Amino acid sequence: MRRTSSLLAILLAISAAPLTSADTVADHARQLHFSSIVLDTHADTTQLFGTKDYDFAKRNTGGSHVDIPRMREGGLNALFLSIFIDASIQGPPAIQKALDQIDAIRVTVRDHPQDLLLASSADDVRRAHAQKKIAILMGIEGGHMIGNDIRLIRIYSALGVRYMTLAHFKNDEWADSSTDKPAHNGLTDFGKDVVREMNRQGILIDISHVSDKTFYDALEVSKVPLIASHSSVRAISNHPRNMSDDMIKALAAKGGVIQINYEQNYLSDEYRKAYEANAGDVSKADEAFKKECGDDFICIGKAQQRQLQQLQAEGKLPRVSWEKIIEHIDHVVKLVGPDHVGLGSDFDGADMPDGMQDCSQLPKITEALVRKGYSDANIQKILGGNLLRVLDQSQQIANQLNSISN
Ligand SMILES: [Zn+2]
Repeated sequence: MRRTSSLLAILLAISAAPLTSADTVADHARQLHFSSIVLDTHADTTQLFGTKDYDFAKRNTGGSHVDIPRMREGGLNALFLSIFIDASIQGPPAIQKALDQIDAIRVTVRDHPQDLLLASSADDVRRAHAQKKIAILMGIEGGHMIGNDIRLIRIYSALGVRYMTLAHFKNDEWADSSTDKPAHNGLTDFGKDVVREMNRQGILIDISHVSDKTFYDALEVSKVPLIASHSSVRAISNHPRNMSDDMIKALAAKGGVIQINYEQNYLSDEYRKAYEANAGDVSKADEAFKKECGDDFICIGKAQQRQLQQLQAEGKLPRVSWEKIIEHIDHVVKLVGPDHVGLGSDFDGADMPDGMQDCSQLPKITEALVRKGYSDANIQKILGGNLLRVLDQSQQIANQLNSISN
């Protein structure tokens, strides 16, 4: 008896021994991260589906950023997979390719029911989380995939698509892009009708990639808060793909969310300037790779990597740390509070900063925010809560709009 109680006393003493403060913070951050919904609004991983050296269900080593094992390791439990084709493809072929990708995502989810759940609402995401599954959502990157036919909005919605980026690197026929010469002074009348139909169909309006005027036009027309699914802060890296402080304030005033993109050009102005001096603007560099590769995504990715490795070997590009992501988040929080920022990595579609080589590294973000003194509640908003709030609003407004028109 005495022996037992003295052993108990030793065990109690050990468990009560103070951890170092560093351990306490790290442990708390891990606990917080792995109990939260961590939602990323933009990965181009769909492009890898069906390719020879890639398997979504296995850990891949070929330079990709996302697969199920690494999502589990990084606590990434909700992900918008992008449906993307180059804007040079228009009309019926664009629709065909978009449908191919929607089917590829749906089949992938169907084939991995233990791990994945196809989500088309915030409640679906919460249900997936409760079942310890990964919620997969779909977003269309580029309005050219409706082929100028508004009925496609309804069809894509019925298939589960929950956001659409109004334009990509080039203007489409009804919305100006941030990286093309203005052709429509923002949104055309048809473009405004597209936004209204997206509101009715519960598809979020994504203003990443669009021109400033398109953003302000969409903000005026949409009854649902806007999202930027993968954009960063222009005050930190002065690229037109990023949002100015005035745009972020206007977005936030109507309840929207900017989801921070981890692409090095968008994170660091020093890197952007060095890259542009050596290779031109990142959107134009993309054009050059397309000349070499057509629309072969794997070929484009390899050509980009070769170019980067060469420029790095020649010492022409500065290193960018993953901690820049925190700087962008913190800038938005200081500007408009914690309710309007989240994560939109651009994994498998962009060049990642040092230390964020794939989605397994995400717990670092939570730990950095804890160390900055952010509350648990605010961190959970940034990790996914803010975006879920907008998804909920979108569904409610769609229901209202549809009941009015019935
Ligand atoms: Zn993009």
